[in-house]
Amino acid sequence: MPPRVRFAPSPTGYLHVGGARTALFNWLYARRHGGTFILRIEDTDVARSSDDMVSGILSSLTWLGLTWDEGPGVGGPHGPYFQTERLDKYRAAADRLVASGHAYFCYCRPADLKAKRDAAEAAGSAWSYDRTCKALSVEDIAAREAAGTPRAVRFLVPAGTTSFTDLVRGHIEFAREHIDDFVIIRSDGFPTYHLSVVVDDVEMEITQVVRGDDHISNTPKQVLLYEALGAPVPEFAHVPLILGPDKKRLSKRHGATAVGDYETQGYLPEAMINFLALLGWSPGGNQELYSRDELIERFTLDGISGGNAVFNTEKLDWFNQQHIIRLSNDDVLHRLQTELRLAGQWRDTLLNTEFEWVSRVLDLLKPRARKLADLIAPLRAFLLDDVVYDEAAVAKHLSGPDVRERLLAWAAVVAELPSLEPAATEAALRSVAEARGIKAGILIHGTRVAVTGQAVSPGLFEVLELVGKERVVARLTSAANGVPAR
Ligand code: GLU
Repeated sequence: MPPRVRFAPSPTGYLHVGGARTALFNWLYARRHGGTFILRIEDTDVARSSDDMVSGILSSLTWLGLTWDEGPGVGGPHGPYFQTERLDKYRAAADRLVASGHAYFCYCRPADLKAKRDAAEAAGSAWSYDRTCKALSVEDIAAREAAGTPRAVRFLVPAGTTSFTDLVRGHIEFAREHIDDFVIIRSDGFPTYHLSVVVDDVEMEITQVVRGDDHISNTPKQVLLYEALGAPVPEFAHVPLILGPDKKRLSKRHGATAVGDYETQGYLPEAMINFLALLGWSPGGNQELYSRDELIERFTLDGISGGNAVFNTEKLDWFNQQHIIRLSNDDVLHRLQTELRLAGQWRDTLLNTEFEWVSRVLDLLKPRARKLADLIAPLRAFLLDDVVYDEAAVAKHLSGPDVRERLLAWAAVVAELPSLEPAATEAALRSVAEARGIKAGILIHGTRVAVTGQAVSPGLFEVLELVGKERVVARLTSAANGVPAR
């Protein structure tokens, strides 16, 4: 049987990196085994959930490429996929549990429960529900029902121990005496998380529950519910927390935690996926760079480690840079098209007659880009005729008594070169420098600023070849005659 797994976010906030990683592990597992990845929106906390949060989560998942097979927008045989549209199912399940003696009505007033809890805590003991309502007689119950007393439904936790095998943590056992008769339906008719999650996982035929570590302590209650409902218990894999570099739980103090922020900052989804996959999971070996398909091929739940994973933005930057290098130039142009247009640097010929040339330019620039958008500025010197000069670079490398003569002499030599083949251009530059009694570096820096406007660039002689002789001569000449003030 191919696995059926789910990602079940509560839309009370944006998709954060921890949630994205949980979604990713589920998605990889489903894709690895030809299974089904289900997206279910757990929106029963109506006051804190919102449609905006739902669309934010869907759009971040879509950006990451974590497409779901059943869920919002795509439907499926187990819908609806929003919990607030499934309330009747939770109530029916609670009724079944009451009928079978696994649950009972509780009419206790919140104020009374609070008073008892406060008293117990004041006396230094842990409070658990005292089963007042479990002891009610049939008449007591009838009287309360007749009076319309609000009631919750509580699960009757039997004595003994509950255990389950966690695919990450191994065998886990809980003594049930520490588990309260927990509420499964609140007096407002809404289910609590434990009931809704189990009813849905049963109905949606979930085979593996892969989720954050923070749910481990909830699992025994849920196992009790599966058993009481007569349903098979799925396998569990609880994924360790993500920590900041200071080993504290990752939070906004450490920087952006919303996936959408990384999208806005210009990270590639490929890099984000690669980075998140290795937070707490390891395929073994030293390889770090993986494409989406390679991750699918290698993913196993037992590669998830028990240790907490550290979120390190420098590492993410490294992944981003590596994935930029691996993008095809065609892909880069398509992804940058809008921004290049906005910068006035786009023309359609880049995709056809000029493709071979611009592809060489991109090969030169890509290794220096940390974000894709970092390519826009350095591309300018290649794509447009006029140069934008960095003032500090001009002050440093294009001012001084001999600059004009030097640049004009060098421009004249360049004009006579048969081509700007890098080694030959370099040799020519070095002889001009020598003849004028200056260090080659001085002429190299001056040329770089004259041709690109910037003090830094990839290898100058490769740049010159790709900018083209005519434009190089023109830029050297105009720089010699004084850089236009902007
Ligand atoms: N809605 C729960 C959460 O966001 C998910 C619970 C689960 O995966 O079982 O934490």
